[in-house]
Amino acid sequence: MPRTDSVSLRAVAFVAFTCLCLIAMDVWEGWRARAVQLKEVEVAASNLSRAAAQDVEDTITQSDMALLGIVERLESEGTDALPMSRLRRMMIMRVGQLKYLNGLFAYNERGECITSSIQTISSYPNIVDREFFTFHKTHTDPGPHIGAPVRSRISGKWILPISRRVDHADGSFAGIAVATINIDYFEDFYSSLNIGQAGAIAMVLDNGTMIVRRPYDDSFIGKDVRKSTLYQTYRAHGPDGVYTSPSTQDGVVRIFSYRRVDQYPLFVAAALSKDESLSQWWRETLVHSAGVGLLVAAIGFFGLRLTMQIRLRAHAETELIATQQALTNANKTLQRLAMQDGLTGLANRRQFDMTLDEEFARAARLHSALAVIMIDVDYFKQYNDLYGHVAGDDCLRAISHAIQNLMSVHGGCVVARYGGEELAIVLSGKDALDPLAVAERIGRAVANLHITHAGSVRGFVTVSAGVASLTPACRQPSDLVQLADKGLYAAKATGRNRALYGRQPGEPCPH
Ligand code: GH3
Ligand code: MG
Ligand code: MG
Repeated sequence: MPRTDSVSLRAVAFVAFTCLCLIAMDVWEGWRARAVQLKEVEVAASNLSRAAAQDVEDTITQSDMALLGIVERLESEGTDALPMSRLRRMMIMRVGQLKYLNGLFAYNERGECITSSIQTISSYPNIVDREFFTFHKTHTDPGPHIGAPVRSRISGKWILPISRRVDHADGSFAGIAVATINIDYFEDFYSSLNIGQAGAIAMVLDNGTMIVRRPYDDSFIGKDVRKSTLYQTYRAHGPDGVYTSPSTQDGVVRIFSYRRVDQYPLFVAAALSKDESLSQWWRETLVHSAGVGLLVAAIGFFGLRLTMQIRLRAHAETELIATQQALTNANKTLQRLAMQDGLTGLANRRQFDMTLDEEFARAARLHSALAVIMIDVDYFKQYNDLYGHVAGDDCLRAISHAIQNLMSVHGGCVVARYGGEELAIVLSGKDALDPLAVAERIGRAVANLHITHAGSVRGFVTVSAGVASLTPACRQPSDLVQLADKGLYAAKATGRNRALYGRQPGEPCPH
């Protein structure tokens, strides 16, 4: 993968990772806040059920205290007119004190009312058929009995009867004392509790009979709720607990807290709507999430833009490097072409001059050998005349390649086209020690090409060469060329197809 792609890929991954982290943190934070909110709702429901249980316990206990007084008086003072009149006054006084009481009553063993706190009624209905009357008649248990809610036969209102048995001196059934509590009282109390729009509170007897419930509905009073989740949970898990479930009564999902009333066989449940309790959390979470969403979108947008810019810049840099490389190559080609002869592919005159200058300086410095060979094609004018210039060019190329091939085995030499059909060679190192031998090998190599030349006395193309070695007499590079030229002139003059040293006038031949 190209480096720029991997860099931009990593940048995209980093932006994506940052965005995901932000989202994950927001989700986690939201979830945690939800758990805290639900815990608070459980605590609130628990407090409500505790308050409601305490209230009903106090209400029943105080009613029962009044009953105890009535039972004690009936059993100790009997039912004569005087004690009955005192008892009635006490009953009226108690009902005046305890606002939730509907009335206090005393009944004989036949279910007939013998006295009550009600003053405005002349005849009382018989209660021999009431459940609580039958209960006491058949149970000697002296404790209070909480009956199922019933409609009062006097006022027509829903009441909760609390009753106690009255015994004769011999322990036989003498009747009952009854305190009736207004169901209205509980409704009012529950109305004063803050349970929201969809909350609920219920009071249920241990036998599964509903006493009262908010939201209010007459049809709930006295209803058998043994099949409800609330009752089943209460039965299965003990005196108090918290759970979340859809209500059996109206289907609303609520967080329920139930609690048994300590001294009496009934329990109270307070339930808060889950949706309602989480509405504030939902609002805050939505606002928060919208903020995080905007942040993520901004980071994503700018991050990706930045990544794109990085990619574009990296791409531009790559293109720049490629262009620079192409330019360098083109320059090298141009440089090479500027030093090369177009027809033969040999070094051109310029390169020859530069090489000769460099080698001359080096040889002078190191006192090493240096030689120059000048080569000229014999009778080349006639060759052109006989075979044409194109053939002349081909001939020149063939000679050049032959010499180049031959010299390629020698290091430290440059073969150049000096001009026209003249070639020149700079020899350094070992080859420079015997340049004449090299020139003669060149002559043989060209002759061995056997390029037919009818204008030559030999019948094929030959070359003549002039050779010059560096001597103390040479002051500058051109002295070597001049000397080699002299050798060439001499070779031409002495019959061509040969190589000769160039000599200064009077200078002896080196060999
Ligand atoms: P010599 O043996 O004395 O050298 O006789 P020559 O005919 O070769 O004489 P000279 O060297 O003076 O002649 C040079 C000729 O080479 C002249 C020209 O027609 C020919 N020539 C020079 N350059 C080129 C070239 O690039 N192509 C062709 N075809 N001919 C060239
Ligand atoms: Mg010539
Ligand atoms: Mg010539």
